[in-house]
Amino acid sequence: MALAEGPDGKGTSWSCAHGVGRWWRDCGCSMVAPERGWNHKWRTPLRAAMDLLQGAAAEFYEGAGSEFLVDPWGARDAYGDVLDAPTANRDALLSEFGTRRLLTGGEGARDRVRLLLEMQRATLLMYASCGWYFDDIAGLEAGLVLRLAAHAADLMNQAGGAAPMEGILDILAGARSNDSGGQTGADVFRRASADRVTPERTIGAVALALPASHGAPVTSLTPGQDVEILSQAVAGDDRALDVTGRARVTTERTGDAREMDFVGSWDERQGFRVTVGGRRIEVGELARESRHRLLPLLLPRLVEAGPTATTAVARLALDLGKDVVGAGDAPDDLVIRRGFARMLVRLLTDEAAPSAAAGDIALELFEAAGSCMERGSSERAVAEELVARLMEKAAGVALWSRLAAKLGFAADFAPGIA
Ligand SMILES: [Zn+2]
Repeated sequence: MALAEGPDGKGTSWSCAHGVGRWWRDCGCSMVAPERGWNHKWRTPLRAAMDLLQGAAAEFYEGAGSEFLVDPWGARDAYGDVLDAPTANRDALLSEFGTRRLLTGGEGARDRVRLLLEMQRATLLMYASCGWYFDDIAGLEAGLVLRLAAHAADLMNQAGGAAPMEGILDILAGARSNDSGGQTGADVFRRASADRVTPERTIGAVALALPASHGAPVTSLTPGQDVEILSQAVAGDDRALDVTGRARVTTERTGDAREMDFVGSWDERQGFRVTVGGRRIEVGELARESRHRLLPLLLPRLVEAGPTATTAVARLALDLGKDVVGAGDAPDDLVIRRGFARMLVRLLTDEAAPSAAAGDIALELFEAAGSCMERGSSERAVAEELVARLMEKAAGVALWSRLAAKLGFAADFAPGIA
């Protein structure tokens, strides 16, 4: 039996009449209606960028892998059978392919080989078909492909290689999104890689939660990462609290372990802050999954923060909630939306002179509160009354007018004129 070769010998598929055009060029197959005028030219640079990374990773793997494995590609194929097995089982399989260096190299050699195979796994995953199948480079599916590419590049660098990032970003810059805003594949890649998991961010998420729990144990808030607190000291009180310590983070898949010092702080004026390995980590840098788990832990304290800091603390809460709020129906999601609604009410109640940013932050809080700010909710009623009162103070009109419009106040709302 022989496989049909398809155009240019690239192969055939069941869901594209142009061989495998759907996975590398603007072949005309799409999900959106043609009248919309979208094109799929971005598929070519996306594929070229992934091929560049895959090629570099394969060359590096062959070189570095052959020191430890007699047949690196045979080992890669066999690794598929133990992919999700515990570390010990994966090590046992790999030792069957081991050179003397792996067999006598102890834990260090085994860690390195696992890292190389996980890099290979990531370069296969980044070819997930849906990345090319749907309609835009800025869509969810292509974004996942690029996030996996960022992960593969991380593993390659971690294993001692040098991922060709400049070349990849150059190629991706030529992949134009159909969405307005002029995004390119390079923008999507930067966003996806900003969202990725690192040891610093993994420890940072736990260290942020520690002051909220007054130093009580907090388990890892990042999927696939184990965090062990090696030492910690708590100092301060309810108004200002510092938790200082050292933690070890272990990546479950690679077994790679790192230790770092951290400081997690809470104070009424600035909210939560965290430093890991001497570097300040902004909450917006944390992986989305981590922020989703942190929000219900931190939000109650942020809502109760001192009145002098409402806008600063609200900004922090909104950064934590970026891309995660309002999306789900889980109990945690409702807690999160209610927290934002209460924070908006706090902001509007705050009689201290509001900062220039207060109007924008109020709008963002309104959006984040989602269903908790729908017509008929008690928080909505309170917010409407407070905005009406603020609008009656002539000086506040400009600051709150956009929120007033959202709340359905008439455009010619003329406060104070009876
Ligand atoms: Zn096609």
